[in-house]
Amino acid sequence: MTEPTAYLDPRAALLAERERALAELADAEVLAPGQITYGSQAASATHVFEQQRDLALRDHNRLHLEAVDAALARLDAGTFGACTSCGKPVGDDRLAALPWAALCIDCQRATKHR
Ligand SMILES: [Zn+2]
Repeated sequence: MTEPTAYLDPRAALLAERERALAELADAEVLAPGQITYGSQAASATHVFEQQRDLALRDHNRLHLEAVDAALARLDAGTFGACTSCGKPVGDDRLAALPWAALCIDCQRATKHR
């Protein structure tokens, strides 16, 4: 008797990922209070670099959160698992690894090469 536990619930995975991304965003807000001081530039070049890196990380998290939300919306709409560009299946392996993936591997590659 084997239960079909191999199938991960994509909604549960997406909601968990959403929680994680939100927590990371909250952390970033605490670490980078948004006060970028360009006054004493020379001394704080490293500091500015770190703040810019934090901002980039936050942008990345925000974009990621949008991707996760969009995937949840596709679940609700019943279009989850279909490539948003060509409509072909994104693929079970790809969705198991990246439940928020909007594009099939072919379209993803095409986007990167553009
Ligand atoms: Zn595609």
